Amino acid sequence: MRRLSKNGQRGRKTRTSQDGGADLNHEISCVLQGQCRTGRKGKGWKTCESPQAYHPQSSSEAIAILVLANHILANEHFLDGFGHVSIRDPEQPGNFFLSRSLAPELVTADDILRLTLEGDVVGEDTRRPYLEKFIHAEVYRARPDVQAVIHGHPLSVIAMSAINVPVVPVFHMAGALGSGVPVFDAYDPENGTLTRTSEEGRRLADCLGQHTALLMRNHGAVIAAGNMAEAVMTALALRDNCTIQMQCLSAGVAPSALSPALARAAAALNFSQNPLFRAWNYWISRLPQPQ
Ligand SMILES: [Zn+2]
Repeated sequence: MRRLSKNGQRGRKTRTSQDGGADLNHEISCVLQGQCRTGRKGKGWKTCESPQAYHPQSSSEAIAILVLANHILANEHFLDGFGHVSIRDPEQPGNFFLSRSLAPELVTADDILRLTLEGDVVGEDTRRPYLEKFIHAEVYRARPDVQAVIHGHPLSVIAMSAINVPVVPVFHMAGALGSGVPVFDAYDPENGTLTRTSEEGRRLADCLGQHTALLMRNHGAVIAAGNMAEAVMTALALRDNCTIQMQCLSAGVAPSALSPALARAAAALNFSQNPLFRAWNYWISRLPQPQ
């Protein structure tokens, strides 16, 4: 894969990439201008006013967005020490980017690996990817429309996955859940609930179908979306939706759900440019600034 800056320290001057000396900062300009570990301005996370904020046009931009998404999802407590997020390479759609096995909050551009849809790391990089890389590989293989995949284990999601009650959208931000949220439980017993083979990943992708989110029973969730902002928005909405549903169920009341028409309208609005920009920059503004 393309080798990126070795600079892993917040607030330090960035080095150039190693393949021909191109300046990574220059290439990805706006997307990375606030990403202090690789960004030209280098003083902290900053919001971005370009659609490239979450619509990468190049491999470098995709990596920048992926690093940012790792930090956003950790900061918003969708991911903790475990869980992972990936992005498809816009320049080579048969590849995707995923961090080496590392807590998302610690991920820098230098930790990003390039993988094939078979789940193999490209090149001679021997660093270990996440065991559950097959979730990402098989979803990208099955769904050409998907550009970003998130897998995490929020408690409310695990709770809903463990009871026989379907997730239904109970508020506006969860409109994307209106098409249904399938539950995957066709685990290989020898792997526990971890998806560690292509075959198991394929079963999971089959279960996901054309939906945006899927629960893994007694484990967590998978979100598959057309861009990173949609994926993060859906992940956070799924987590909160599960919390609300569990609160209603704990009170002995089955919550009313958005009708299919209301859910469709909400999803269309949420995934339009203004709400995505607004949310994306809000999440960036909440990231802890480097010391
Ligand atoms: Zn997991």
